Amino acid sequence: MEETSLLSLPEGMVVEQIQITENGISVEVVATTPTSCCPLCSEPSSSIHCHYRRVLRDVPCAGRRVQLFLTVRKFSCRNPLCQQKVFAERLPAFVEPWARLTIRYCQQITSIGLATCGKGGVRLAARLGIQTTRQTILRRVMDLPDLPPASILYLGIDDFSFRRGYRFGTILVNLESRRVVDLLPDREAETSAAWMRKPLDLMAVSRDRGGEYASAAREGAPQAIQCADRFHLLKNLGEALEGLLARHLATQCKRETQAILDEQALAWQSQRAVRISPKLERLQQSRREERLAHYEQVIALRKVGLSQAAIARQVGIGASTVQSWLAAGTFPERKPREQASHVDRYLPYLFQRWEDGCHNIAGLFRELVEQGYQGSYESVRDNLVRLLPTGRKNPAHSSLKSPPLATSRQAVFLFLRRLEKLCVEEQETGAKLRQLHSEIDLAYDLVQQFVQMLHNRRGECLDAWLDQVASSELPELQSFAAGVEKDKDAVKNGLTWWINNGMVEGHVTKLKLIKRQGYGKAGFPLLRKRVLHAL
Ligand SMILES: [Zn+2]
Repeated sequence: MEETSLLSLPEGMVVEQIQITENGISVEVVATTPTSCCPLCSEPSSSIHCHYRRVLRDVPCAGRRVQLFLTVRKFSCRNPLCQQKVFAERLPAFVEPWARLTIRYCQQITSIGLATCGKGGVRLAARLGIQTTRQTILRRVMDLPDLPPASILYLGIDDFSFRRGYRFGTILVNLESRRVVDLLPDREAETSAAWMRKPLDLMAVSRDRGGEYASAAREGAPQAIQCADRFHLLKNLGEALEGLLARHLATQCKRETQAILDEQALAWQSQRAVRISPKLERLQQSRREERLAHYEQVIALRKVGLSQAAIARQVGIGASTVQSWLAAGTFPERKPREQASHVDRYLPYLFQRWEDGCHNIAGLFRELVEQGYQGSYESVRDNLVRLLPTGRKNPAHSSLKSPPLATSRQAVFLFLRRLEKLCVEEQETGAKLRQLHSEIDLAYDLVQQFVQMLHNRRGECLDAWLDQVASSELPELQSFAAGVEKDKDAVKNGLTWWINNGMVEGHVTKLKLIKRQGYGKAGFPLLRKRVLHAL
């Protein structure tokens, strides 16, 4: 009896003997219930006709395989009206007629299949002492029955991708029981509508802002109210806001750049007029030393007989410079700055072009020549290299331009969150952004109103909000509002009802995980089974 309860056998089955062999554990079991019911007429019978043996594989015990040698009986049906004369006793909760595996053994294989995939499942099962094949695991999962259609009052619907961005399916979630109720192989309106036509008692459908599921719900469940998902609403609002902010931040950036350029050009010219700054003087001095070192190197290399081209390569300067230096006979000092001042009046143009991204000095030089510049190429180059904020050899200048407050995307994040959710630093950045332009300030107010409305479920305020946007002259928000207007009832419901697609998104994440584990050749039907019966 103790062994019986240890192995957890059904009532009436008694362990007679346990043998531990090299391959596992063999258990002799006999059935002892005095009567059994005829499967045809359900009449109990105690008249034993004969005994026979069944060999069953059972769940492993402490990692050892377990084989049951089960002695069962055949009974004679004593009901004279029954056509079944002899019947084998049934053990319905334990083993199916004719099966060679116990039901609980099969269930373990199914669980392994649901938690892993075919091949991985075989490996895991082997570790657990269960011998099976990939095909068996897949068949077990595929044999799982579909859940019978039950009443679903609140349905969440969304799409998911089989292959990122290529092919999509539809996921349907019961928002009350929080369970996936079905997967559909595409995201066509007609497929979803056909599904919703089932007798489900649908009261409300939460869906994205796309048209397909809206029309599916309209066709398939016209009685149900539709709720536009709040996350999707915020996402759309965020996109509109990003457009507006990007527009203003770009203008602001240009304005700042221009101010810096103007300031620099002025500074340069005033330096010229008065005196060269000590910093520039130091820079000039070190540049002279560098040039002198190059000169001496050129002379030395010439003495050992290198060609001009070879010297140029070795020293890293232009061949024409080598030529002119050798011809000069002595170290050629740079001409005084004042003589190179042709470039002054072109400086704003040069700075602007550089800031626009044209960093080709030779190209810029040609542009200046076309505009009538008569100075030297070197003068253009030196001015650019030394003085521009992005000048390569003068990192001190790169800090002249302050970093932008935020990218438009970061700004959207700050604007969409409720103020109390932001840290002090974020709040300050937000405030500075708002000061940039009255349109940004207004957009912030409108967006925050929408966020509050969404957060506090105040859908009744939507009309007033739309009116405000209409009179705001903010094209980006107006375009968002136009989208809302087209789908206004659903948006209002979404801003009022408790349901939304957050849970559906959670299930999509889980689905992706299952999908990555592989559902291979069995394709969509297997994926569907695994998601519907996910552990
Ligand atoms: Zn019978």
